[in-house]
Amino acid sequence: MSDKTYPVPAEWAARAFLDADEYAAMYQASVADPDGFWAEHGKRIHWFSPFTTVKNTSFIPGQVSIKWFEDGITNVAYNCIDRHLAERADQVAIIWEGDNPSESKTITYGELAAEVNKFANVLRNRDVQKGDRVTIYMPMIPEAAYAMLACARLGAIHSVVFGGFSPDSLAGRISDCESRCIITADEGLRGGRKVPLKANVDAAIERLGGGVDHVIVVRRTGGAVNMEPIRDVWYHEAADLVSDECPAEHMNAEDPLFILYTSGSTGKPKGVLHTTGGYLVYASMTHQYVFDYHEGDVYWCTADVGWVTGHSYIVYGPLANGATTLMFEGVPNYPSVSRFWEVIDKHQVNIFYTAPTAIRALMQSGEEPVRKTSRASLRLLGSVGEPINPEAWEWYHRVVGEGRCPIVDTWWQTETGGILITPLPGATALKPGSATHPFFGVKPEVVDAEGKVLDGATEGNLVIADSWPGQMRTVYGDHERFEQTYFATYPGKYFTGDGCRRDADGYYWITGRVDDVINVSGHRMGTAEVESALVAHPNVSEAAVVGFPHDIKGQGIYAYVTLMADVQPSEELRKELVAWVRKEIGPIASPDLIQFAPGLPKTRSGKIMRRILRKIAEDQFENLGDTSTLADPGVVDDLVTNRQNKK
Ligand code: ATP
Ligand code: MG
Repeated sequence: MSDKTYPVPAEWAARAFLDADEYAAMYQASVADPDGFWAEHGKRIHWFSPFTTVKNTSFIPGQVSIKWFEDGITNVAYNCIDRHLAERADQVAIIWEGDNPSESKTITYGELAAEVNKFANVLRNRDVQKGDRVTIYMPMIPEAAYAMLACARLGAIHSVVFGGFSPDSLAGRISDCESRCIITADEGLRGGRKVPLKANVDAAIERLGGGVDHVIVVRRTGGAVNMEPIRDVWYHEAADLVSDECPAEHMNAEDPLFILYTSGSTGKPKGVLHTTGGYLVYASMTHQYVFDYHEGDVYWCTADVGWVTGHSYIVYGPLANGATTLMFEGVPNYPSVSRFWEVIDKHQVNIFYTAPTAIRALMQSGEEPVRKTSRASLRLLGSVGEPINPEAWEWYHRVVGEGRCPIVDTWWQTETGGILITPLPGATALKPGSATHPFFGVKPEVVDAEGKVLDGATEGNLVIADSWPGQMRTVYGDHERFEQTYFATYPGKYFTGDGCRRDADGYYWITGRVDDVINVSGHRMGTAEVESALVAHPNVSEAAVVGFPHDIKGQGIYAYVTLMADVQPSEELRKELVAWVRKEIGPIASPDLIQFAPGLPKTRSGKIMRRILRKIAEDQFENLGDTSTLADPGVVDDLVTNRQNKK
């Protein structure tokens, strides 16, 4: 692992909300007296009726219960819109950049208020009430945010399903939470290609054999779609008939806000339930401090609203803070691999938040497509979703950020609601590949397999010892599964499922999922470390490492390697890569097998699905498990064929 350190740049020390000492003092206060700390910071949102209790949580198996600010009354949409209108009616809330570079628009807070109220009235006319579940299956257009906020305004619980999911996956998610109302668009548009959203909804409903009373269809492309009489309605026609005023429902802090199904890299997706008050306090506070969001900044998170990152850091966190948030319909390589950087120049983006998978993909095309853009407006970069390999971190820092922008490597999960481990740009010296330190109120611990808490520099499993306001409250409809999944392994603690190393300076390094830790001749090794060594080789663009049964070592190291665009696989290169990893990490980490792979199986959010690679490495081709959340199932067939040819 890289042990290079990047100190806080002078410019950041001067402008940031917090410096290192202030962070330390505030962190100390947050864990010493959570009630006092969150009573103070809970006031950052508007309450119709203030809370009188703060934290009421238990991680004890059999009685796990998480409540924050439980007697407070508020509304998330009110906080994201109405509260800002006196000062910000004319300020841009959302910058929308279309898939096609010639399409973009801005929506002010005043306009946002009218749009969301109309959307809420359309829902209300279809009998959507507080507590009802509404499934949102939308492209990245402003109406997706309006729909979410409209649900929040009425107290309906939204379940956003990523627009890339198949009718089957969509059907499973509609039936799990029993949504009777679906919001969709005629078609989506990504990378110049049309996505048949409405047709997918029709197919999903057919598979379910009914149960859906209303489908509201936003017109995006104008493509022909089937409209079922009575059940289906065009949004623009319904919106013409309603007023742009709609009162915000008074919601209890613990009333549900949304359900979101996890991305499914480890198994059947879970319906993660988040509630109102604590979630919003946590999302807005992390957005402010992690991205050091100041008045007037233009902020861009490239996630899709179908993922939790889109919920917390495109919609709720930024809007609760009265920020200007950019929403992008397209993909990083359309019309060209310069698109991200061109959008940054076009809208003068200051803060840019993306995923390692995008960085690694763009690295393949070299520096020129980045260098030819200005990016002078950029001040801060962020990363989320997977461990970022030090090589990719350095490239992001040196090429994209011209060496002047700190990178916040933010570790968190759908379950955590917001960022838990992260640098703060004015407070934290950075180490490439490390998510660094806990956010306020977060108590990470490293434990061994038996649950013994490990001190100092160490490696093991990452748990969180106490609750924070943004934590999920339950698995929708299955509290038992919630307890089993997160609180049974280490009773009394929240188990993250991730492995982690803490270095001598107290920095946290996420080593990958615990399932992905390999034990080679008694040495525990995180897959992330071997992958980072491989990616550091100039010919390698991506790598995924898994263990496989090995007669002598117990487990051997199996590496799937994707090469740079212009490099051909060869026996010589294979040997060179083995030698390279030996040199970078040590003989214990030498891969036993390297398979060159033109593509790796990834979830729709771009994460490598190692559980499938593990099965292939173990020759269990019949046993690949649920592949419904894969972005491109064809990749798996290629890998299996290649593997079988090798034998
Ligand atoms: P599922 O839980 O269904 O298997 P998932 O874990 O991929 O899906 P998410 O909640 O989107 O669903 O992802 C959270 C996980 O992503 C974390 O547990 C961690 O493994 C990884 N992750 C996210 N951010 C980082 C980061 N900055 N560094 C390292 N790993 C990260
Ligand atoms: Mg997970």
